[in-house]
Amino acid sequence: MTNCTRRKFLGSTAAVPLGLAAASRVNANAATGYADFIVTGGKLLTMDAAQPVAEAFAVRGKHILAVGTADDIENLAGPHTRRIDARSMTVTPGFIDSHSHPLFAEEAAGVNVNLRRIDDVKQALAGQASRTPPGHWVRGVMYDDTKFEDERPLNRNDIDDVVSDHPVYVGHRGGHTGVVNSRAYEVAGITIDTPDPVGGKFYREDGEFTGKVAEHARRPFFESGTWPVIDRSVRQQAVAIGSSKMAASGLTSTTDAYGNKDDIVAYRDARAAGELHYRVAFMPGGNSDVYAGLKTAGIGSGFGDEMIRIGAVKYAADGSASERTMSMSTPYEGRPDDFGILTMDQQQIYAAVEDAVAHDFRVGIHANGDVAIDMVLNAYERVLRDRDGPNPRHRIEHCSLINDSLLARIKAAGVVPTPFYTYTYYHGNKWVEYGEQKMQSMFAHRSFLDAGIPVAPASDYTPGPYEPMMAIQSMVTRKDVRGRVWGPEQRISVTEAMRICTMHGAYASFEEGIKGSLTAGKLADFVILANDPHDVDPDGIVDIKVVRTVLGGKTTHEA
Ligand SMILES: [Zn+2]
Repeated sequence: MTNCTRRKFLGSTAAVPLGLAAASRVNANAATGYADFIVTGGKLLTMDAAQPVAEAFAVRGKHILAVGTADDIENLAGPHTRRIDARSMTVTPGFIDSHSHPLFAEEAAGVNVNLRRIDDVKQALAGQASRTPPGHWVRGVMYDDTKFEDERPLNRNDIDDVVSDHPVYVGHRGGHTGVVNSRAYEVAGITIDTPDPVGGKFYREDGEFTGKVAEHARRPFFESGTWPVIDRSVRQQAVAIGSSKMAASGLTSTTDAYGNKDDIVAYRDARAAGELHYRVAFMPGGNSDVYAGLKTAGIGSGFGDEMIRIGAVKYAADGSASERTMSMSTPYEGRPDDFGILTMDQQQIYAAVEDAVAHDFRVGIHANGDVAIDMVLNAYERVLRDRDGPNPRHRIEHCSLINDSLLARIKAAGVVPTPFYTYTYYHGNKWVEYGEQKMQSMFAHRSFLDAGIPVAPASDYTPGPYEPMMAIQSMVTRKDVRGRVWGPEQRISVTEAMRICTMHGAYASFEEGIKGSLTAGKLADFVILANDPHDVDPDGIVDIKVVRTVLGGKTTHEA
C-alpha cells in the first residue's frame, strides 16, 4: 500500500469521536509507520455505538490504531507487523470491574481453597503444610462451604486427617468465619471449657469443637503462634498472583474499593516489576492515613495514569447485603423487628461528602439498603446544588435496594450506582431472607438502564466472584447456582450486560475516552472469547472460555 491510501484511511477513522489527543495520535502514527499487530478472523463486538461491528483492528504501541474492514486494516500491515488470528472466535473490549478488593485474598501468604470437594481442600492444605516450617500456622484462603459437592462444611476432623502438627486456619471468603484444626485450639489455649467471647462463637457439637469459629472468636488464633509474614514483597506477590488470575478471567481493569498505603505500594511495586496485569482505580478508604495524606499533598480523584489512578474516596454507611445487615425501611423476612444497621448518621455523611468535595475528591459511599441510599443522596444533592461545571459522578457503592423515587434522584444527580453483578448467581441461598418482593428491586440493573442511569459493573470480590462471564450470566438470567430465579423483572440482555462490563465500567472512573470499547485511539485492552455470549445457552455463559486477554497491546493471559 502507499502512504497516500494509508493516510486517507486513517483520516476517515479519525472522524469517529475520539477526543483530540487520540485523534492527533492516530495522525502521527499515519506519518511514522505500520501496525505492531493486527487482529483478524474474529467476530468483533466493539461496544462502540458508532461502529458496533467490524472485521479487524490494528494495534500500535499501547493503543488501537484503527478498526474497520479486513481490507482496510490490512493496509496498515508492514513487513514486521504480527497477526493474531482470532479463528472465528469473539473479540470484545477488556472487561472492567468498578468495585473490588483485589488484595483481600492474601493468597501469597496461604493456599487458595476455593475448591468444590472437601478432599481437594484437604490435599491443598497438606501441600501447604509441607512447605511451612514446623509449628507455624498454615493458612487457607477463599474457603466457601456453600459450594461443596459434599453438601456439608469442612470441619476440624477433615483438617486433622491431613495436618496434625501445624495449626491450621481456613478463612471463609465472606471474611467473618473460619475453620481450624485441633492443633490450632492447643496453640491458642482454647479448651472445650473456654466460654464464647462477646461477639464471637466457637461452634460445638456433642461436647466437641466442630472447628468453625466466628467473628471475635477468631482473635485468639490470630494472636498466638507464628503466622506467615505479610511484608512488602509478599504483598507485591499477592498483586502478581491476583492480577494474573483476573487477567485469565478477561479483566483488564479493576478497582480497589478501600485502599490503604500498603495496597498502593504493592500496586506500584508490582507495576515496576512488570507484574501488574490490570489497571487499577484506587479508592482510598475515607478513614485511612492514605486519604489524609493525599488531601495534604493536594492530590484528588483522577490523579495518576492509565495503570494506577486515584478514584473516589470510599466510605460505608450501612451493613452488608450478603450478610443480611443492610439498612432498609421494611424488615427482613421472618424478622419483623430487624431493619438492618446504619454505620454512619446523616451528619457524618454530610461532613464526609463536604470535606471530600472541598479537597477535589469524588465520593463513593457504600449504601445497600433504601434508607442508607436516601441519606447518601441527601448529601450528594446538597453539594451539587451550588456546583458549576461538569457533573462529578459521585457513586453509590452497591446501591442494592432501590425504589422509583430513589431512581429518579440518582438520575437527576448524575450518580453512578455499582450493584453486585455476580451475587444473584453466586449467593442465591441468602436471598430468601429478603424475599421475592424485595428481590424485584435489588441489584436492579434493568431499572437503572430503563431510567437512563449508567450502572457500573461491580463484583465486590472477595465476597463476590469477579469473573465477567459469571457476571453476564447472573445479570441476564437472574438465576442462582441451583436454578432458582430471583427478581426476573431485573433481567437484562446479553448486549446490555456486556456494555455494563465495558463502557459503563470506563464511565464509572471517568475513562470512557480511553477505554471500554474497541475504538481507534483507545487503549488496546481486549479479550478473545471461545464463544459469543449471545450465541450460547444463557445458563452456560459462565463456562465460556477466555482464550486470550491483552492489556495495552501486551498479552496477559493465553489459554
Ligand atoms: Zn466492597
